[in-house]
Parts: sequence; C-alpha cells; structure tokens
Amino acid sequence: MIPATFTYRRAASVDEALRMLADSGGDARLLAGGHSLLPAMKLRLDRPGTMIDISRIDELAAIEESGSGVRIGAAATHDRIASCDLVGTRAPLVAAAAGVIGDVQVRNKGTIGGSVAHADPAADYPAALLASDAVIHVRGPASSGGGGSRQIAAADFFVDLYTTALEDGEIVTAVEVPDQGGAGSSYQKFPHPASRFAVCGAAVSVATDGGRCTRARVALNGVAAAAFRDSGVEAALEGATLDAGAVQAAAAKAADGRELLSDLFADEDYRRHLAKVFVRRALTAATG
Ligand SMILES: Cc1cc2nc3c(=O)[nH]c(=O)nc-3n(C[C@H](O)[C@H](O)[C@H](O)COP(=O)(O)OP(=O)(O)OC[C@H]3O[C@@H](n4cnc5c(N)ncnc54)[C@H](O)[C@@H]3O)c2cc1C
Repeated sequence: MIPATFTYRRAASVDEALRMLADSGGDARLLAGGHSLLPAMKLRLDRPGTMIDISRIDELAAIEESGSGVRIGAAATHDRIASCDLVGTRAPLVAAAAGVIGDVQVRNKGTIGGSVAHADPAADYPAALLASDAVIHVRGPASSGGGGSRQIAAADFFVDLYTTALEDGEIVTAVEVPDQGGAGSSYQKFPHPASRFAVCGAAVSVATDGGRCTRARVALNGVAAAAFRDSGVEAALEGATLDAGAVQAAAAKAADGRELLSDLFADEDYRRHLAKVFVRRALTAATG
C-alpha cells in the first residue's frame, strides 16, 4: 500500500516545527517514529499534504531528572525509555509499559510523544501515565495561553478514541512523571496475539503504611475507548489492609459500570473479565 503524495519537511527545533505547522493551514502532520502515522497513510485513512519530521530535534530527545521525578522528551523511543535506568527507578510503570510495546522494530522507532498524541485505545503508555500521575508538556503558537506552553494532567489528556486534549498547532514536548514516593507498582498486559497491542492493560501504583493502603492508583487501557482511572477499585483499596482477600475484592470491581469496547477478538464481557483478572495480577505483583 502506497500513501498519497505529500511534501516532506524536517524541523530542527520545536519553534521551527511550530512555525511549519502554523504555515500549513492545518494540512500537516508531525512525523515522529511513523509507526502509527505511516500505516494510517498507507491505508489512506489519513492524507496530509505535508509531513513535518520532528524525530531529530535534540530538545525533544532528552530524558532527565526533574526534581525527584523524571522528564521524558517526546521523541524518546520506547526502547530508550524501557532501558533507561533513570526511568526504571523514577517512573517504573512507564518503563514497564515501554518494554512490552509491539516488537523490537516498533520499540526502536516509536516515540512516547507520538504514542500519547495518537491516543490509540490499545496503546500501553496511557494507563501507566494515569497511574503515575504524569503530566504532559505541550507547546503551541505563542498566541495561545501561557506563552504557548501548557501542562496537562494525564487524567485530562486522554479524552476519547484517538482524541486528546491537544489543540490544533500544538506539539507534545515531554512527559513528566513525579516522584512515586516508594509506591509498589506493576503493569500487566494481555497482548493481542498478532499486533501485540493491549487487549487489556492494567497499571497500578499502591502506597502502603504498615500494610494498610494509603494511596491507590489503578488505570486500564485497551478495554474502553480511552484509558481511564478506575475509581471503584481505588476506593476499595484505600484504607484497606492489602491481603489477598482485599486485593481480590477490589479487583472484582474493575471496569464495573463502564461501557467497554467490543470487537471480533474480544467482546465487551470478555474485556470486563480481563480487566478484573489483570487488575488482580497487577495488584498482587505491586503489593507482593
Ligand atoms: C506492528 C505494530 C505494533 C504496535 N504495537 C503496539 C503496542 O503493543 N503498544 C503500543 O502502545 N503501541 C503499539 N504500536 C504503536 C507504536 O507504539 C507507535 O510508535 C506509536 O503509537 C506512535 O508513535 P510514533 O512515534 O511512531 O508516532 P507517529 O506515527 O510518527 O505519529 C502518530 C501521530 O501522533 C502525531 N505526533 C507525533 N509526535 C507528536 C508530538 N510530539 N506532538 C504532537 N503530535 C505528535 C503525529 O502527527 C501522528 O498524528 C504498534 C505499532 C505497530 C506498527
């Protein structure tokens, strides 16, 4: 399958990419790893007139300390994130999610910025970012609020199927994960056997004091149109002594009351079942 004709441009800086976007009149797409955009173009689901390559912008590639957390540049590839000690220590859920994305080829080219901007419901990062209380850094035209820069909590970023809080002309510049305060965490995934995308992915982060849960974050992707935090499971965990019975009882509430996706591979009932099983597995691993 061959994409429709397009003009290729490469930006050397975020400012230049923003100018190119503004000049395009809405007919351009940013090109990062190309592992979601190019398949869509080959299927003619997307036909941008211009592609703006942002994959070689140094300021988007850095992974660095940010206070006691970590700031991951939007152009960092899944493989770099999975193998980075700083991310593994400061943002273990993000490292875990990165390590189970697709295959080696996908992890070597795909980027965290491209993944969050694309907002595929079956992508692995969203649940990890929600359960880590991450923040998405965004830059847009200087005419927009805040001199063109804003930060969006992950909880507000993933809006719907392939829909985020990004506005036209904005670029994701980084993902910032705050200090996890020693919480136990785990990301557990049921991958589609062909694509490796998440049919169900459960990310949990649980802080305890004397065996009692003081803070719980439980998030799911793959099962619904957008990744979400499961407040029913979190409420069942907070204040509870985290023995096997409490974990089982909390996990049994996963995805309750939610409208879930249904397709030829996994219908809604099966996805609800997977949500409960994978939340239990993630909680068991995080509290073990
Ligand atoms: C065979 C295969 C298997 C896969 N398996 C998985 C999987 O198991 N789990 C998973 O999570 N993903 C999976 N993916 C998707 C993969 O992770 C993609 O790399 C990712 O979704 C998109 O990142 P990218 O850098 O390739 O973005 P691109 O494809 O370059 O861009 C995707 C979209 O985001 C926009 N964009 C890119 N960067 C930015 C930015 N900084 N700011 C704003 N907009 C931006 C682009 O304009 C485009 O619309 C798979 C892909 C393939 C081809």
